Amino acid sequence: MKMEDIQKTQTLKKLIISDVVVKFKCPNCGKGLIIRNNKERKLGLGWICPECGYTGP
Ligand SMILES: [Zn+2]
Repeated sequence: MKMEDIQKTQTLKKLIISDVVVKFKCPNCGKGLIIRNNKERKLGLGWICPECGYTGP
């Protein structure tokens, strides 16, 4: 394997990790679908339910 190929693979892995998306139903109304990515979770950003406006950590 060439050095260049190894670097490409590592970059790709980083991209995949940063793009991890978590989907879950709103715990308040059970209707709204919350979609969060790994970056937002790391930054500790809150989310808001599109259905009822419930916010969470
Ligand atoms: Zn909700």
